[in-house]
Amino acid sequence: MTQTTSDFAALPLAPELLSNLGSLGYHVMTPIQAEGLPSVLAGRDVIAQAKTGSGKTAVFGLGLLSRLQTSDFRVQGLVLCPTRELADQVAGEIRRLARSLPNVKVLTLCGGASMGPQLASLEHGAHIVVGTPGRIEEHLRKGTLELGSLTTLVLDEADRMLDMGFQAAMEAIIAETPVNRQTLLFSATFGDAVRPIAKRLMRDPITVEVTETHDATTIRQHFYRVADESARFEALLRLLLDARPASSVVFCNTKRETDEVAEALKGAGFSALALHGDLEQRDRDQLLIMFANGSASILVATDVAARGLDIAALDAVFNYRIARELEVHVHRVGRTGRAGGSGVAYTLVSEQDDYRLARLAGLLDDRFEVQPLPSPEVLKQAPFRPAMVTLQLGGGKKHKLRPGDILGALTGDGGIAGDQVGKIKVLANSAYVAVRRDVAAAALKQLGTGKLKGRSFRARYIG
Ligand code: ADP
Ligand code: MG
Repeated sequence: MTQTTSDFAALPLAPELLSNLGSLGYHVMTPIQAEGLPSVLAGRDVIAQAKTGSGKTAVFGLGLLSRLQTSDFRVQGLVLCPTRELADQVAGEIRRLARSLPNVKVLTLCGGASMGPQLASLEHGAHIVVGTPGRIEEHLRKGTLELGSLTTLVLDEADRMLDMGFQAAMEAIIAETPVNRQTLLFSATFGDAVRPIAKRLMRDPITVEVTETHDATTIRQHFYRVADESARFEALLRLLLDARPASSVVFCNTKRETDEVAEALKGAGFSALALHGDLEQRDRDQLLIMFANGSASILVATDVAARGLDIAALDAVFNYRIARELEVHVHRVGRTGRAGGSGVAYTLVSEQDDYRLARLAGLLDDRFEVQPLPSPEVLKQAPFRPAMVTLQLGGGKKHKLRPGDILGALTGDGGIAGDQVGKIKVLANSAYVAVRRDVAAAALKQLGTGKLKGRSFRARYIG
């Protein structure tokens, strides 16, 4: 391996890009950035493999921005992502990286949004398009997107796109791009599905890989035996009531189980939400907002649904059922204790799972034991409620509402203290604000009866 430095200044980046990195708080490169950026900026095809949260977006984001000719409004960069949330996150990160450059247009094109505004935006031209394969392919078929001037193609979370059945769409899109393009492929894993695609699509690629394993001091893994299926849910309850994590994900292996477990947790008095692929986009957005702002404490999810989402600060991960593949297990567990914090993972295993446990023991360097569950006494405790609740407002960016307007309405004559207000998220037609549970009624009244930007908007409590 070549010697790498972690100083961004060592890279051939425009001074505006460099100084902006400092203002974003990016003072040193993450390992995958240090390994990948030199080759990306040199124009090479690159395969980059590193776990979620390792800073892969900036590797291709800086690559895209460095090559951009802003005077040319044809599409020069295309980023394919598996889901709309990821596309939104990636577009947001590219815009942040680009904010010191004048007039860079980044457009997201995803399914679940209407075509009209997308067509209008495309007519105005865009330098970088970020989107999901299905919708991008649709635009290409209709002739509303033209990729003849593309210089860089990025496949983000390539493994997940393949898992989600996007292979045909991806290939159709790639067939519309110039052969002399630069291709960058990002993936948390590089298994048998991704490898042949990479081989076909890429020219003499450089592979960079960062496989830091979590050390046992940051993530503690606990395993518990369940006698049979009927004991599984009670085991989860006991663990939750004993550990009382403010924010956790419970992983299930099927959508159906996700719904069942979330319902049962709600029945037991917890604030739990089920996240799976069948949700309407709007419900999914709302659910993730509620989880991120601390007004839902437990997210029950399948791997596909939870993959790649930038959920920060999970106190605990529960494996309601151990993952079928060890790689997936490691990925799940890695979601707790991010960014140097400590985390804990609880895994329920029945006798049928023993062979998986045995394989896992081979993978983890340290030894682990199956532990006894907390005593049933703990079931007498009351379930915990999240500190925040979410209020939804019937107005958003389209009504020129900004977070500051909402905060001002609540704290001004609303009489609510600033520290009782949590995250505020403004979408196109609605906005979500988290407030502390004890001021929820007052906040709702204030938003529902007061005026914002000289208008009154509907306000409702959504939990
Ligand atoms: P990945 O795609 O590998 O999952 P992301 O690109 O989404 O990771 O980055 C994860 C988080 O780390 C983001 O919030 C991003 O803003 C932040 N980040 C990326 N690079 C740096 C850096 N060099 N210094 C500090 N924070 C960074
Ligand atoms: Mg990513």
